[in-house]
Amino acid sequence: MLRRLDAFTRGPAAAPFAAVIRSVSSGSVDITAPLNFWASQRRSNQEKGSRENVYEPATGRVLCQLESCGAFEVNQAVEAAKSAFDHWSKMSGMERARIMIQAAHIIEKRREEIAEIEVINNGKSITEARLDVDSARLCIEYYAGLASTLAGQHVQLPGGSFAYTRREPLGVCVGIGAWNYPFQIAAWKSAPALACGNSMVFKPSPVTPLTAVILAEVYTEAGAPEGLFNVVQGGQETGSLLCHHPNVAKVSFTGSVPTGKKIMEMASKGVKPVTLELGGKSPLLIFEDSDMENAVRGALMANFLSQGQVCSNGTRVFVQKDILPMFVEEVVKRTRAIEIGDPLLESTRMGALVSRDHRDKVLSFVNQAKNEGASVLYGGEPFVPSDPKLKGGYYMTPCVLGGCTDDMTCVKEEIFGPVMSVLSFETEEEVMHRANDTTLGLAAGVFTRDVRRAHRVVEHLKAGSCFINNYNITPVEVPFGGFKMSGIGRENGQVTIEYYSQLKTVFVEMGDVDSLF
Ligand code: NAD
Repeated sequence: MLRRLDAFTRGPAAAPFAAVIRSVSSGSVDITAPLNFWASQRRSNQEKGSRENVYEPATGRVLCQLESCGAFEVNQAVEAAKSAFDHWSKMSGMERARIMIQAAHIIEKRREEIAEIEVINNGKSITEARLDVDSARLCIEYYAGLASTLAGQHVQLPGGSFAYTRREPLGVCVGIGAWNYPFQIAAWKSAPALACGNSMVFKPSPVTPLTAVILAEVYTEAGAPEGLFNVVQGGQETGSLLCHHPNVAKVSFTGSVPTGKKIMEMASKGVKPVTLELGGKSPLLIFEDSDMENAVRGALMANFLSQGQVCSNGTRVFVQKDILPMFVEEVVKRTRAIEIGDPLLESTRMGALVSRDHRDKVLSFVNQAKNEGASVLYGGEPFVPSDPKLKGGYYMTPCVLGGCTDDMTCVKEEIFGPVMSVLSFETEEEVMHRANDTTLGLAAGVFTRDVRRAHRVVEHLKAGSCFINNYNITPVEVPFGGFKMSGIGRENGQVTIEYYSQLKTVFVEMGDVDSLF
């Protein structure tokens, strides 16, 4: 069932968000209010933004229509965030932490509802969506823990004079998200921002606009001041208005490399710091002494999570020559066994890709790989589940490509779908060189039983996150981000505090001014 009300005003006393989006067990979403969220918002009739359909990837049906925010709405949201900042930034870390912990509790209570809505809007399996919600909650808990530890330094100077530093927030931060982890991205950006005393205006991808709005409601319900975390909807125009806004102090972006470059350019006009979490084409190195069972599991985790739509995926799988046949046989056997279908079912391991266009683009990469001489060892075809209600969904069989070489498009470009390219190598030196032969550097993995080789190889890999004997784990306590064109800055871990705060140095003179004049 789809319902949409045109009433746009949701003041502070708005109904709980469960009344706005309600997921029901049949997998339908009932949308009864607009999807923007900020304090005392008003909708201008003169500035009706463009509208676009939001789809359910599992079935292909239209969930709702999204109306983009224009300059008027962006201004309102930034103004709301600005006044929330005045209040929030003056609170102590302990006070901010209390509200953030409360938000984490609410997320825990609403875990199933949030995960279901994510599945309906994104197409990933419910099992994965629950883990995304958990990661969002853990991230908020983690930064709540850090909020009260933010401190400066005291530096003794000659004559009893001294200086101290204060770690201060930046102001209104903008978050712009991709469609592959909608709720998690909103939390990974807002948690460190809020812990440091900033406020945020977040723009989700127009493809997956729903769950960021739930996060806004969660923070509000937890006691956050009105306007602390705001959601504006829209695509590149709305995003660009946010980046150019004079009252925005920082932009944190997750998305593709081409958009990342534009964001950096726009932010540079206002000399605003950016965090860029961009694409990848990461290598996974499997040496002949690897534990084969774990290497196969690792390769599947590196390629098929979220229908392969993961930035850190290890899609260039380099396998040492002697174990290649055994590895390929096992990987193909398990890929064939992956259950594809209704993402809301517990047994499903692979749901639908995010859109028809994107699925078709991924399939065209498979065709191109064939034309360039790769062999399809399994999959790479459109898939139609037997359930009639899923007939219009955007499914495909996960694909394993063999006989790949470094010059093929499937090995060079980010496909962002369930396509694993398998390559063969002979020596450690050779594979390290080939692994680094890319402009991207988000992640890399090494499977080997030789602990010295593992560290030696990792030292040479030019990637922000390196995994030894595992892949695609992202505990919120450790930094995540890219080398080279995969990004700037980090998310998660203690270091992210530095990306959402600035140091003020205060000099204190205890003697007389030693003037030269
Ligand atoms: P995208 O770059 O097309 O869009 C990302 C966001 O930017 C969307 O919200 C979009 O509306 C907005 N946007 C687009 N043009 C803009 C402009 N000119 N100004 C301001 N905002 C603009 O990316 P996508 O297709 O949503 O996501 C897929 C990409 O994201 C992949 O390349 C993937 O690797 C990357 N990604 C990276 C990470 C990471 O942490 N490194 C995580 C997830 C996804």
